[in-house]
Amino acid sequence: MGQASGLDKLKEECGVIGIYGDTEAANLAYLGLHALQHRGQEGAGIVSNQGGEFRSFRGLGLVNDVFRPQDLEGLVGNMAIGHVRYSTTGESSIRNVQPLSASYRYGKVAVAHNGNLVNAASLKDRLEERGSIFNTSSDTEAILHLIATSKQTTFVNRLVDALSQVRGAYSLVLLTEDALIAVRDPMGIRPLVMGECGDATIFASESCALDLLGGDYLREVHPGEMIIVDRTGRTSLHPFPAEERKACVFEHVYFSKPSSITFGEAVYTRRFDMGRALAREYPVDADWVFAVPDSGTAAALGYSTEAGIPFQQGLLRSHYVGRTFIEPSQKIRDFGVKLKLSPVRSLIKGQRVVVVDDSLVRGTTSKKIVRMLRQAGAAEIHMRICSPPIVASCFYGVDTPTREELIAHTKTPEEICAHMEADSLGYLSIDAMHATMGAPREAYCDACFTGRYPIAVEDHVDQDQLDLFSEPSEDTEARE
Ligand code: AMP
Repeated sequence: MGQASGLDKLKEECGVIGIYGDTEAANLAYLGLHALQHRGQEGAGIVSNQGGEFRSFRGLGLVNDVFRPQDLEGLVGNMAIGHVRYSTTGESSIRNVQPLSASYRYGKVAVAHNGNLVNAASLKDRLEERGSIFNTSSDTEAILHLIATSKQTTFVNRLVDALSQVRGAYSLVLLTEDALIAVRDPMGIRPLVMGECGDATIFASESCALDLLGGDYLREVHPGEMIIVDRTGRTSLHPFPAEERKACVFEHVYFSKPSSITFGEAVYTRRFDMGRALAREYPVDADWVFAVPDSGTAAALGYSTEAGIPFQQGLLRSHYVGRTFIEPSQKIRDFGVKLKLSPVRSLIKGQRVVVVDDSLVRGTTSKKIVRMLRQAGAAEIHMRICSPPIVASCFYGVDTPTREELIAHTKTPEEICAHMEADSLGYLSIDAMHATMGAPREAYCDACFTGRYPIAVEDHVDQDQLDLFSEPSEDTEARE
């Protein structure tokens, strides 16, 4: 879910889970949220349903910190939905933590959303003109208002009516008084899978949640599909006009957990294969291949395998760093990255190293890593980025800064290499990236790498980003 216009900046990444048919539904949702924690670390929540009575617990922070045993004990019922949320700026207020729930004249409903609606601001304006009062600054709330104000007579028809008015990316799980519903936008931009665990049906953003619960992966919720689970079983509907599939390719580059099957494809294999392709496109004579852990590890192993250069853990990641609030600035240079990564000097001194990361956003991490490796005595540092240059912001639910802050928007790869003071820099080409994917390139949204947006972005765009939605500029094309 994202933030509605004018209130906060668009900076959301999320994970959702839904369970139907287990008396421990909330506990399973809680465990599943642990597996999805990488999709959002700022807040977490669960809503459970026992016989039509909803119970909810939400809080700011990591799943482990939000829920105490007594909080989970209160979440009784055999259905539950859960959500993890991430936001780097904007309002990190408890009222924006999902699932959102509401009572309206036909009953109760709760929703958890991964994705971002691009027409949330105009929907909100319209709804407010008609008298709706918004409690959050999140676009997801517009869906609840649209459901509540729909003239349709059944919940499913009200939901279809609501969703046919929204545009953008949504993978949703909803609870009604008697059903769990999962639904994905017609382009299937964000992932959503279905599985089973004993008699329970489970929906989750990623299959890694099923692995943790000991469940079986059944399949993706198809783009544009709505699956209703109630006491009669599972019903699949395709209520929206079919559209071309546009799965977010960045899920494979960075966002999904390597152990997941996302869009029907093994994420680890995709990353490993992209690393191999990168080694073919940008070979170099070196002693070791390092990863920027953990996100660059699968790609670095692929690079190492293809290049025949041994992989080493030259950079170690601390798993204990949360958010830090002190910035000693001048006193300790590159403080942030040093808290997270430490160099193994014995592997680095006098060596020629290849450093593989999955992506470059602002370019700040890589610059600091190069400096850290130089200080540790590296003879040569060759940066390899296992995705194409990110030249455009995402408006469909991945946290990216404004276009002006994206280093590849303002600098060529040569300039970036000079900026980070590396000996060489190589980006995976867009053709090679697509060649490693399981489906033709038309089946993916690659707007962050091309500026070609499959859904026009109408609302809540900074003025300096607006010209993104015209045809890709020449310099964008040139960097593909
Ligand atoms: P930067 O220092 O801004 O270039 O960030 C690059 C690092 O951020 C890489 O190590 C990526 O793994 C990571 N990264 C890429 N995309 C995201 C994202 N949407 N949210 C958080 N981290 C990201």
